[in-house]
Amino acid sequence: MVKDTEIHRNTVQRQVILEELQKVTSHPTALGVFAVVRQRIPKISLGTVYRNLELLCRMGVIQKLEHGAEEARFDGNPARHDHIRCVQCGRVDDIHGPPLDLSGAPTNDCNDYRVLGYRVEFFGVCPQCGGGNAITGPTKAIFPIVVNQE
Ligand SMILES: [Zn+2]
Ligand SMILES: [Zn+2]
Repeated sequence: MVKDTEIHRNTVQRQVILEELQKVTSHPTALGVFAVVRQRIPKISLGTVYRNLELLCRMGVIQKLEHGAEEARFDGNPARHDHIRCVQCGRVDDIHGPPLDLSGAPTNDCNDYRVLGYRVEFFGVCPQCGGGNAITGPTKAIFPIVVNQE
Protein backbone atom coordinates (compact mmCIF):
# COMPACT_ATOMS: atom_id res chain seq x y z
CA MET A 1 0.00 0.00 0.00
CA VAL A 2 1.45 3.37 -0.97
CA LYS A 3 0.55 6.08 1.49
CA ASP A 4 -1.02 9.35 0.35
CA THR A 5 1.89 11.35 1.74
CA GLU A 6 4.28 9.29 -0.35
CA ILE A 7 2.25 9.89 -3.51
CA HIS A 8 2.22 13.58 -2.71
CA ARG A 9 5.99 13.63 -2.15
CA ASN A 10 6.59 11.87 -5.48
CA THR A 11 4.35 14.35 -7.29
CA VAL A 12 6.19 17.31 -5.74
CA GLN A 13 9.58 15.83 -6.64
CA ARG A 14 8.50 15.24 -10.23
CA GLN A 15 7.09 18.77 -10.49
CA VAL A 16 10.34 20.32 -9.24
CA ILE A 17 12.40 18.22 -11.69
CA LEU A 18 10.15 19.33 -14.55
CA GLU A 19 10.26 23.00 -13.49
CA GLU A 20 14.04 23.07 -13.24
CA LEU A 21 14.47 21.33 -16.59
CA GLN A 22 12.07 23.74 -18.27
CA LYS A 23 14.07 26.72 -16.95
CA VAL A 24 17.18 25.86 -18.93
CA THR A 25 18.07 25.28 -22.56
CA SER A 26 21.39 23.64 -21.76
CA HIS A 27 20.06 20.07 -22.15
CA PRO A 28 21.58 18.83 -18.88
CA THR A 29 22.49 15.24 -18.09
CA ALA A 30 20.64 13.48 -15.26
CA LEU A 31 23.54 14.43 -12.99
CA GLY A 32 23.14 18.07 -14.01
CA VAL A 33 19.42 17.97 -13.22
CA PHE A 34 20.20 16.29 -9.91
CA ALA A 35 22.65 19.07 -8.94
CA VAL A 36 20.02 21.76 -9.47
CA VAL A 37 17.04 19.90 -8.00
CA ARG A 38 19.05 19.04 -4.88
CA GLN A 39 19.20 22.75 -4.04
CA ARG A 40 15.43 22.71 -3.65
CA ILE A 41 15.03 19.16 -2.31
CA PRO A 42 18.25 18.36 -0.42
CA LYS A 43 17.16 14.81 0.41
CA ILE A 44 16.38 13.72 -3.15
CA SER A 45 18.50 10.86 -4.52
CA LEU A 46 20.09 10.54 -7.95
CA GLY A 47 18.03 7.38 -8.50
CA THR A 48 14.80 9.31 -7.91
CA VAL A 49 15.88 11.94 -10.42
CA TYR A 50 16.69 9.25 -13.02
CA ARG A 51 13.36 7.51 -12.45
CA ASN A 52 11.36 10.69 -12.75
CA LEU A 53 13.22 11.84 -15.86
CA GLU A 54 12.39 8.51 -17.52
CA LEU A 55 8.78 8.80 -16.42
CA LEU A 56 8.46 12.38 -17.72
CA CYS A 57 9.89 11.19 -21.06
CA ARG A 58 7.29 8.43 -21.26
CA MET A 59 4.60 11.00 -20.43
CA GLY A 60 5.86 13.06 -23.38
CA VAL A 61 6.43 16.27 -21.40
CA ILE A 62 10.21 16.24 -21.81
CA GLN A 63 12.53 14.48 -24.23
CA LYS A 64 15.71 12.49 -23.92
CA LEU A 65 18.59 13.10 -26.30
CA GLU A 66 20.69 10.02 -26.89
CA HIS A 67 23.46 10.04 -29.43
CA GLY A 68 26.09 7.36 -29.65
CA ALA A 69 28.18 6.78 -26.57
CA GLU A 70 27.47 10.22 -25.13
CA GLU A 71 25.64 10.42 -21.83
CA ALA A 72 21.92 11.04 -22.31
CA ARG A 73 20.75 14.61 -21.95
CA PHE A 74 17.29 15.90 -21.14
CA ASP A 75 15.27 18.63 -22.79
CA GLY A 76 12.33 20.38 -21.13
CA ASN A 77 10.94 21.19 -24.56
CA PRO A 78 9.14 18.13 -25.98
CA ALA A 79 8.46 19.75 -29.38
CA ARG A 80 10.38 18.41 -32.35
CA HIS A 81 13.51 20.50 -32.93
CA ASP A 82 17.07 19.86 -34.02
CA HIS A 83 20.20 20.10 -31.90
CA ILE A 84 23.83 20.96 -32.41
CA ARG A 85 26.64 19.62 -30.22
CA CYS A 86 30.05 21.20 -29.72
CA VAL A 87 32.78 18.65 -30.50
CA GLN A 88 35.14 20.37 -28.09
CA CYS A 89 33.16 20.96 -24.89
CA GLY A 90 30.10 18.76 -25.47
CA ARG A 91 27.62 21.61 -25.07
CA VAL A 92 24.27 21.02 -26.82
CA ASP A 93 22.11 23.85 -28.16
CA ASP A 94 18.79 24.07 -29.94
CA ILE A 95 18.76 24.91 -33.61
CA HIS A 96 16.19 27.60 -34.16
CA GLY A 97 14.03 27.54 -37.23
CA PRO A 98 12.10 24.74 -38.86
CA PRO A 99 13.35 21.20 -38.18
CA LEU A 100 15.21 19.38 -40.91
CA ASP A 101 12.90 18.04 -43.62
CA LEU A 102 13.18 14.27 -43.43
CA SER A 103 10.05 13.47 -45.39
CA GLY A 104 12.19 11.48 -47.83
CA ALA A 105 13.67 9.29 -45.07
CA PRO A 106 12.92 5.56 -45.18
CA THR A 107 9.88 4.45 -43.25
CA ASN A 108 9.06 0.78 -43.68
CA ASP A 109 11.36 -0.48 -46.36
CA CYS A 110 14.73 -0.25 -44.65
CA ASN A 111 16.66 -3.55 -44.96
CA ASP A 112 13.68 -5.39 -43.43
CA TYR A 113 13.88 -3.28 -40.30
CA ARG A 114 10.75 -1.91 -38.75
CA VAL A 115 11.68 1.75 -38.43
CA LEU A 116 10.77 3.21 -35.04
CA GLY A 117 12.32 6.62 -35.45
CA TYR A 118 15.49 8.48 -36.23
CA ARG A 119 18.03 10.73 -34.58
CA VAL A 120 19.67 13.66 -36.25
CA GLU A 121 22.32 15.74 -34.59
CA PHE A 122 24.46 18.49 -36.00
CA PHE A 123 27.92 18.99 -34.61
CA GLY A 124 30.39 21.84 -34.72
CA VAL A 125 32.41 24.20 -32.57
CA CYS A 126 30.44 26.46 -30.23
CA PRO A 127 31.12 30.22 -29.83
CA GLN A 128 32.83 29.69 -26.46
CA CYS A 129 35.23 27.23 -28.06
CA GLY A 130 35.99 29.67 -30.83
CA GLY A 131 33.54 28.39 -33.43
CA GLY A 132 32.64 31.82 -34.75
CA ASN A 133 36.30 32.73 -35.32
CA ALA A 134 37.24 29.31 -36.64
CA ILE A 135 39.90 29.00 -33.95
CA THR A 136 40.53 25.31 -33.46
CA GLY A 137 43.19 23.10 -32.02
CA PRO A 138 46.16 24.41 -30.02
CA THR A 139 45.71 28.02 -31.22
CA LYS A 140 42.63 28.24 -29.04
CA ALA A 141 44.69 28.06 -25.84
CA ILE A 142 46.31 31.41 -26.58
CA PHE A 143 42.95 33.14 -26.24
CA PRO A 144 41.18 33.24 -22.91
CA ILE A 145 37.84 31.48 -23.09
CA VAL A 146 35.10 33.97 -22.33
CA VAL A 147 32.11 32.42 -20.63
CA ASN A 148 28.86 34.30 -20.95
CA GLN A 149 27.23 34.93 -17.61
CA GLU A 150 23.55 35.07 -18.37
ZN1 LIG B 1 32.22 24.27 -27.05
ZN1 LIG C 1 16.41 21.10 -27.32
